[in-house]
Amino acid sequence: MTGKAKPKKHTAKEIAAKLDAATTNRGGGKAGVADRTGQEKGGHAKYECPHCKTTAPDVKTMQIHHDARHPKIPFEEDKLVNRHATTAADSSKSRPGVRGSLKK
Ligand SMILES: [Zn+2]
Repeated sequence: MTGKAKPKKHTAKEIAAKLDAATTNRGGGKAGVADRTGQEKGGHAKYECPHCKTTAPDVKTMQIHHDARHPKIPFEEDKLVNRHATTAADSSKSRPGVRGSLKK
């Protein structure tokens, strides 16, 4: 019997796409509400560059930005705009793990 080969119903690409859709936090649903309303700050841009309003999640990232963009201005942590000043980020809290926009 040589019968026809059964066509595969799921390609690896399809499965990968489904897995991605199921495991990636796209900021939707109940969990995303807090994200969108800004109540939960974990994992989101915290600092704002006082020179060009670019945001960064932490001081180190902001310093890298500063060195790259404003090399002539001395980097001063105090001058950064801390957008989360009222709510300290709790590092023990699980982060939302948003990665949709970080894809390369
Ligand atoms: Zn800047």
